[in-house]
Amino acid sequence: MGSVDIPSKQSAAVREGTGESAKAPVKQIDVRMPGAGEILIKVNWTGLCASDKSLIHDEWKDFGVAMQDATKGIAGHEGAGVVVAVGEGAESRWKVRSTGTDEVHCTAQKNSGFSAEGTFQEYLVADARYSSKIPDGVKDEEAGPIMCGGVTAYVACKRSSVKPGQWIVLPGAGGGLGHFAVQYARAMGMRVIAIDGGDAKRDLCKKLGAEVFIDYTATSDIAAEVMKVTGAGAHGVLVTAATKQAYDMAPGLLRPNGTVVVVGLPKDPSVVAGAPPIMMALRRLNFVGSVVGSLKDVEEALDFTARGLVHPILSKGKLTELDDFMEKMSKGQLPGRAVLQVAA
Ligand SMILES: [Zn+2]
Repeated sequence: MGSVDIPSKQSAAVREGTGESAKAPVKQIDVRMPGAGEILIKVNWTGLCASDKSLIHDEWKDFGVAMQDATKGIAGHEGAGVVVAVGEGAESRWKVRSTGTDEVHCTAQKNSGFSAEGTFQEYLVADARYSSKIPDGVKDEEAGPIMCGGVTAYVACKRSSVKPGQWIVLPGAGGGLGHFAVQYARAMGMRVIAIDGGDAKRDLCKKLGAEVFIDYTATSDIAAEVMKVTGAGAHGVLVTAATKQAYDMAPGLLRPNGTVVVVGLPKDPSVVAGAPPIMMALRRLNFVGSVVGSLKDVEEALDFTARGLVHPILSKGKLTELDDFMEKMSKGQLPGRAVLQVAA
């Protein structure tokens, strides 16, 4: 390594302005070479996640969450590409495996696009210890979203403790996270009840492997419908929707000893995941939180795609279209996961 042609300048989408009107036009900036323990990645594709938009537009400022100076105004955290330079001491990392410790909760972690430079640039310096190898057979444009939305859905399925042959309910199954969850749950042998609205979502969920689809726009009592299908209720519910209604509904869909997996994060701090104590105790319900996943979880999630079992549905664009894509995202006009081509 090290003999690849690396230019001194590169294109990057750099944030300008603040708040709702902030933009991220593409500019020419310097390429930084990797230091000790770092690698330089030529980013071929990057996902555009809803959280990138929230950060660029300062939507979480009231919670004390905003892009830090270390990002240099470059957001993005779903990049995939090729390693073009390896810094000192990083040569061996590509043999080092995850230790299996729960690095998701490391207090010294740096987050791409939030507390470190993000993937909305052609040449990204990354921590060699925390970069994932993309297996053969997985395209870069698929890998990006799998390393965020995919792994989030996959780990949430694991956290549900639903076993092969048991029922899992996925409200919002046709959405960005939901459409991943349908595929992972199915590949893990679970029986999927998808909830969403309209015929297009029905067709999508069925195609991805849902056994039962409940159209909430045409069903007055969703809990009764779930009981009818499952007999005693589902074994797990994965709440990806960030709404009070979704959290209120979830425990009522479960059989005794069932599990609600908490994933969606409502803005309103008064929304609580749980159930009345008498219901929770007598039915021995479980509520578990889940957030993204470890390096090992990412490897596992990518492996499902390498084996042809999970594929994201993508809305594709170019890095120069970032602002347009964020606007479309606000209006709900981007089906599946948005990805932007970065390096030509
Ligand atoms: Zn993301």
